[in-house]
Amino acid sequence: MNMDDVIIIGSGPAGLSAAIYTCRGGLSTTVIGLDNSALQKAHLIENYFGFEQPLSGRELIKKGIEQARRLGAKIINSEVISVDWDGIFTITTADTVMQSKTVIFTTGASRQKLRVKGLTEFEGRGVSYCAVCDAFFHKNKSVGVIGNGEFALHEVNELLNVASEVTLFTNNNELQTVFPPYVKIIKTPISALFGGQKLEGVELADNTRISLSGLFVAIGTAAAADLARKLGVAINGNNIIVDDKMCTNLPGLFAAGDCTGGIMQVSVAVGEGTKAALSAIDFVRKNRDVG
Ligand SMILES: Cc1cc2nc3c(=O)[nH]c(=O)nc-3n(C[C@H](O)[C@H](O)[C@H](O)COP(=O)(O)OP(=O)(O)OC[C@H]3O[C@@H](n4cnc5c(N)ncnc54)[C@H](O)[C@@H]3O)c2cc1C
Repeated sequence: MNMDDVIIIGSGPAGLSAAIYTCRGGLSTTVIGLDNSALQKAHLIENYFGFEQPLSGRELIKKGIEQARRLGAKIINSEVISVDWDGIFTITTADTVMQSKTVIFTTGASRQKLRVKGLTEFEGRGVSYCAVCDAFFHKNKSVGVIGNGEFALHEVNELLNVASEVTLFTNNNELQTVFPPYVKIIKTPISALFGGQKLEGVELADNTRISLSGLFVAIGTAAAADLARKLGVAINGNNIIVDDKMCTNLPGLFAAGDCTGGIMQVSVAVGEGTKAALSAIDFVRKNRDVG
């Protein structure tokens, strides 16, 4: 498999700035992202340096993509559904699998929130955000997954190896991908979770009760925290914990921008992307030196 020096997950201001620096630092760079940066929702930006007249967030992103491409970055429009590490990172997207020794997370803030009665109460007692981490606890039992896209499909497939039955709860959302035919699909929204010391099941909006030993939350696209959990990377809520050089606790993994929390502004994301890139360049050069 052809390996890039660095793979950047996220094509917003943090990821594109990081790519500009890694390319100029001589690293072969791939950026994987979707066309939904927070910046694209900003109607007009007038607090970012260097633009005398306000410009739209969409226009600013377009300029960043063109700049990164001109410097040599490969930019792929795809969704990352899983990242694994065994000394090398394996990045699985909806379409392909890639590897690199260095990864930068710049996936933005997680804005997908699920408000269901009992969800927080049963976290760690049946409610999970990582199938690879927790599937084993549900061997030969019935489990549920909440979601409707590629990320949910990935979690369903992990669970099918272990659980006796997997039910997908779409919460009234349309399916965005094809699920295996033997997965039961329920569209009626979940209104509450029930149980005692541990989760025992979910109650739907039509008052039906379904017994489950585990419920896995995989709504929307995988956020940085979802990807990090599986790697054992330290997080605080939905934010990746980094030091002042944007290093995570996993060697070769860096994070920048809104996914690290703090002040959520373009200028901060750009600055953090720069710092993460410089740390990544340093990491790649040191690893080249040793071997
Ligand atoms: C409405 C609105 C107005 C704003 N106005 C301003 C303003 O005026 N000035 C200002 O400075 N800031 C503004 N902001 C904030 C600014 O947009 C963010 O701080 C900035 O975009 C953060 O950059 P980022 O690169 O960290 O994340 P984002 O820009 O959110 O980019 C995240 C990237 O990660 C990708 N991604 C996420 N998950 C995956 C996955 N699983 N697989 C592949 N790709 C993935 C996304 O597709 C996206 O490309 C505004 C934000 C909003 C929502």
